[in-house]
Amino acid sequence: MTRLAEPAARRVLIAAMARAMIGHAEELTALDAAIGDGDHGINMKRGFEAVLADIDAIAAKPLPQALGAVGTTLVMKVGGASGPLYGTLFMQLGKALPESPTLADFAAAAETALTAVKARGKSETGCKTMLDVLAPALAALREGIATPDALFRALPAAALAAADATIPMRAVRGRASFLGERSIGHLDPGARSSALLIGAACAALEEMA
Ligand code: ADP
Ligand code: MG
Repeated sequence: MTRLAEPAARRVLIAAMARAMIGHAEELTALDAAIGDGDHGINMKRGFEAVLADIDAIAAKPLPQALGAVGTTLVMKVGGASGPLYGTLFMQLGKALPESPTLADFAAAAETALTAVKARGKSETGCKTMLDVLAPALAALREGIATPDALFRALPAAALAAADATIPMRAVRGRASFLGERSIGHLDPGARSSALLIGAACAALEEMA
């Protein structure tokens, strides 16, 4: 992860996540139309377009501050339930990471950030939300530290599978919970966006490894 000490590498990482959200906006919105209010893709696209608009200034900051800036931008621009939650995730990752993190540093920071997102949303895993991807992804990261060469492929695969595993769940948090039983049979939009963010980040990190 030493490359993350360079602005160009931080730019690649952050832009990859932004492009994934912008490129999948329609899909995320369609998922949210089925069990929410149909704005998740629009929300994430607006937030990450604002990140891209400021990418030079963001990437110029050391990694902790750069992730913090992504987080504050998301809080300001995304709105809805997901804005404060993703904002918390990035801000807490930024606070907990050193400037040139190891994989073990990432795992420790992700644990801190996950705990903060749970507290912010008064939620836990099993409620059919982004947490149902973020928590298993953290577990896969921990398991993968011993085999770093495979990690950047294993982690996205685990995240995508975890997102798909929200399909049979009944939502008990967020707007989808208003549907009760009718939320069953649909992929959670926030779970999907989390899996896409993790996939984009891992692909970028693998390229620079
Ligand atoms: P809103 O529901 O306000 O329209 P979005 O559509 O942008 O916001 O985001 C919806 C996603 O946010 C859900 O699919 C879910 O993954 C996530 N979410 C909602 N509430 C919570 C919560 N309390 N904890 C964790 N994630 C949540
Ligand atoms: Mg919505």
